[in-house]
Amino acid sequence: MAQRYVRVQAADGHIYYGLLQLGQEVRALDAPPWLEGQPTDLELPPGSYRVLAPCAPSKIVAVGKNYAAHAAEMGTPVPEEPLLFLKPPSAVIPADMQIYYPPQSQRVDYEGELALVIGDRCVNCTPEQAQGKIWGYTIANDVTARDLQRKDGQWTRAKGFDTFCPLGPWVVREISPAARLQTFLNDETKPVQSALINQMVFSPEVLVAYISQVMTLMPGDVVLTGTPEGVGPMQVGDRVRVEIEGIGYLNNTIVARKTDLDT
Ligand code: MG
Repeated sequence: MAQRYVRVQAADGHIYYGLLQLGQEVRALDAPPWLEGQPTDLELPPGSYRVLAPCAPSKIVAVGKNYAAHAAEMGTPVPEEPLLFLKPPSAVIPADMQIYYPPQSQRVDYEGELALVIGDRCVNCTPEQAQGKIWGYTIANDVTARDLQRKDGQWTRAKGFDTFCPLGPWVVREISPAARLQTFLNDETKPVQSALINQMVFSPEVLVAYISQVMTLMPGDVVLTGTPEGVGPMQVGDRVRVEIEGIGYLNNTIVARKTDLDT
């Protein structure tokens, strides 16, 4: 099994990057692993910590329509260059946390995606250089208020609600180029999305290089690589699970957003 890099919060509130062990213990690191964090003597026993999103990005750069079949289902051509947008860091939630269905929308979709975690400052990279800047891989759900995306024309509101970026549960260093990405709703055994990540139009290193011509990517930043075909709506009470072969799965439930948000 590939090493799983997690970020957790201990009962005393302290946040640690760590290595998830087979017995669910977490071996704490003294820094984020992409900043040369080394194992310490501290081992957190199972049940003594809460799993957080595996990194704390300064920004999340996402890519639209990066699978041809998804562009087609949206009724649009594949972009000639990567189509970039941002999701705010405040949208990030970990595995098993609730996605809030906002009252402003009547149509909230899942979008299962491979997420890249950047390990090194990245400016003006070539694709060859960019490959070395991708520290690892995790799973994301690019939750989207589809009606607001269409209504607004630009995507900040539709993509940017709190809880609209489930991320995790951990980072792995390597992934098979032909790994399968699948999304499941509730207890259905048939996936609503199923594709190989090498069906992407623009590969991870091409995306990172392209983004780095625009903005500096920092260690811990996240790139969402686009969703395959099969996007569809979620309802309050649904469970959504995004699986990527070689990583694991990211599970979240949908609840109605309270109007008196206090956090
Ligand atoms: Mg997306």
